[in-house]
Amino acid sequence: MKTVALELFHLTAPLAEPIGNALVTFDRRETLLVRLTDAAGTAGWGESWTAPETVAALIARHLAPCVLGQDPQALGRLWRACGAACGPHGQGLTGMAVAAVDMALHDLAARQRGVPVATLLGGAVRERVPAYASGPFFAPGGHPYRHYQRECEGYLRAGFRAIKLRCGLAPAEDGAVAQAVRALLGPERGLMVDFNQSYTPRAAIEAARRMEAAELGWIEEPAAPGDLAGYRLAAGHVRPAIAGGETFEGAAAFLPFLGQGVMDVLQPDLAVCGGFEGVRRVVMLAELHQLAVVPHVWGSLVNFHAALHLAATLPVGRWGGPVALPMLEYDVGPNPLLSLLGRPELGADGAVAVPQGPGLGFELDPGRLAPFVTSHRVLRVE
Ligand SMILES: [Mg+2]
Repeated sequence: MKTVALELFHLTAPLAEPIGNALVTFDRRETLLVRLTDAAGTAGWGESWTAPETVAALIARHLAPCVLGQDPQALGRLWRACGAACGPHGQGLTGMAVAAVDMALHDLAARQRGVPVATLLGGAVRERVPAYASGPFFAPGGHPYRHYQRECEGYLRAGFRAIKLRCGLAPAEDGAVAQAVRALLGPERGLMVDFNQSYTPRAAIEAARRMEAAELGWIEEPAAPGDLAGYRLAAGHVRPAIAGGETFEGAAAFLPFLGQGVMDVLQPDLAVCGGFEGVRRVVMLAELHQLAVVPHVWGSLVNFHAALHLAATLPVGRWGGPVALPMLEYDVGPNPLLSLLGRPELGADGAVAVPQGPGLGFELDPGRLAPFVTSHRVLRVE
């Protein structure tokens, strides 16, 4: 069944209270969704990560002609056609444009077959994926960690068994907050920290030293994304696992970090790294190098569900934390775009169920998007 329409939704959701990390403060949630419809009216959803208007223009100009009027089951052929239409290797914003279209193709192809996306990816190996609370975030207007204790208590009440703090303010501050949260968690729950590229590798090493008593599972982005020398320096001095790669726009960007002992947990984002086809290549590389994959998640319920289906299919990853990998990154900040159909349900076991319905497993009426639509464009097969 061929595709007949591709819609682009630029969504913006202002936040009542800004949130941030060591790198940036957000006063809104913003994303680009792609909706691809076939002749029978079945629709699949995809999502891109940043610069919605620019990515929308790339999709409209270069990618829509590749996929409109085509059979979405030809996933590999269409992914390559999209990459070729954007230029070699699909890097930068083009990688994100391809990601959104590829995600929509997978959702649509799975819905046409009446199977979950996880089945399309080769089959789920788990029905529930343990989630970690991705938060708390910096609170502007005072000490950025001032609500961490209270917010972490809330995550524990919600059922989370692992928490990832946004850190990177200053090594001494990081040491204090990590030890306080570890005291709250006890020894059986996972604790990770994310420096969001804010430190020099030496500052990251110093922060890690001050956090040693907190028994961290992983340290995320201890250096700038492509700084292999910085990762190498950090890896030589910190004890926890090192995680990274959320901004990598294609599997090739991971290559220099493999076989080096500098990155233990690979975090490709489906909305950045070429969609399912792109991340499939990262998963293969990780498996060959005996490394864990934990998909990075940011954005709406579309990317969340995409990561959930991918995580359902991944092999158990090696690391030293108390909760088995893969885990699902669960954004616990204010996010109306994640809650379009209500907040995804976290079980008492700290895990999220993999939807058994067709495609990504949710039914999203485009009318639900109305309060957040900044622009909407419809492209049809000619
Ligand atoms: Mg991160």
